[in-house]
Amino acid sequence: MTRLGFDPDELAACVGCGLCLPHCPTYRVTGLESASPRGRITAMRVVEEGMPLDDAFSTVIDECILCRGCEAACPSGVQYGHLAEAARERVARRRPPMRRLVEWVAFVAVLPRHSVLLACTWLLLVAQRLHLVPARLGLPRLSPRSLRTPIVPDGDPTAYLFTGCVMDAWQRDVHRAAVHVMRSCGAQVGLPTAGGDCCGALHAHAGRVGEARRLARRVMASMPGDAPIVVDSAGCGAAMKDYGRLLGGPAAAAFSARVQDFAEWVAARGAPPLRDTGITVVVQDPCHLRHVQHAEGSVRTILHDAYRLVETDDDGMCCGAGGAYAVTERDLATRVRDCKVAAIRAAAGAMPFLVASANPGCAMHLDAAGLDVRHPAELLAAALDDPKGAM
Ligand code: SF4
Ligand code: SF4
Repeated sequence: MTRLGFDPDELAACVGCGLCLPHCPTYRVTGLESASPRGRITAMRVVEEGMPLDDAFSTVIDECILCRGCEAACPSGVQYGHLAEAARERVARRRPPMRRLVEWVAFVAVLPRHSVLLACTWLLLVAQRLHLVPARLGLPRLSPRSLRTPIVPDGDPTAYLFTGCVMDAWQRDVHRAAVHVMRSCGAQVGLPTAGGDCCGALHAHAGRVGEARRLARRVMASMPGDAPIVVDSAGCGAAMKDYGRLLGGPAAAAFSARVQDFAEWVAARGAPPLRDTGITVVVQDPCHLRHVQHAEGSVRTILHDAYRLVETDDDGMCCGAGGAYAVTERDLATRVRDCKVAAIRAAAGAMPFLVASANPGCAMHLDAAGLDVRHPAELLAAALDDPKGAM
């Protein structure tokens, strides 16, 4: 390993061809080399060669959405995501004190402690009802009914559903729909036991790799056995499929091999009988489903019998959500989202439409722009012959 913790082979693999540039959302909206994958890798090399790790380098790295669209497009096989996570780990250590405090509260005190997160969510719900939460924050409208009603697992699970942190607090109805579909497919659905509160994806994204490793070990312990682990958040699924690399060792690799995105799991078993809804659905591919898990085809497979699926013509470009990116880099995130929203509206044309998104962050980010976004599990549950059991 090098001074910044890069794998030297990964750093050397970039030949500077620039073929990734049109696939990079931040380059597309700024036109700046410093906001491109090639520019970021050049900056990593310069710092590696001894230049001080300064504010300019932090900006170059922080402005990356970590969508990994460049990685999918790179003919040289550059593992950009690994490079960027290592760079962000170093950048995270030199944050100003106030930002470190805020991040500590979010990443250490709240996200890994589900009871604390749920208590904060109740406070947020009250604040929403008192109109104290600005709409520009793009938070979903929280439901007291959903928060009050836990999901009850089956005994002797044949598959687990990973429920996670923010999604279970803010979008539990998506989990309910996923459980309903899984049961319709004949599964006995288990849930993570104590400790399986947070997969660490947001931590790794923010450069807090040590904490991501600690959370990964807890998640592994929370779902023992060899039953498949179904994940209905593309970002969480991508992170859990990477535990083998993150932690090393055969146990982590075996755990990662059990992880499947919800759509992958349903597609492999065959969707239950569906009715044709006649509804137009524009499919949005979350980057961590498309570029990392390569599971975007399964979403189409499970939905096409029930919906009129429509594709955007932007080659799966990122929507700008990116973990906490929409909060930390609001301006760029909004500019990237504007492009995505335009592509979605152009794809739908004059038809009324829904948007399918398999990632909670993307769903919230696009929903805040006025789109009606549903998770594939919700769409599938609504098209079942017995849709009322979904909620
Ligand atoms: S990351 Fe890959 S595609 Fe982009 S400039 Fe480097 S070698 Fe070329
Ligand atoms: S991860 Fe996404 S935003 Fe970052 S350099 Fe690659 S394409 Fe651009």
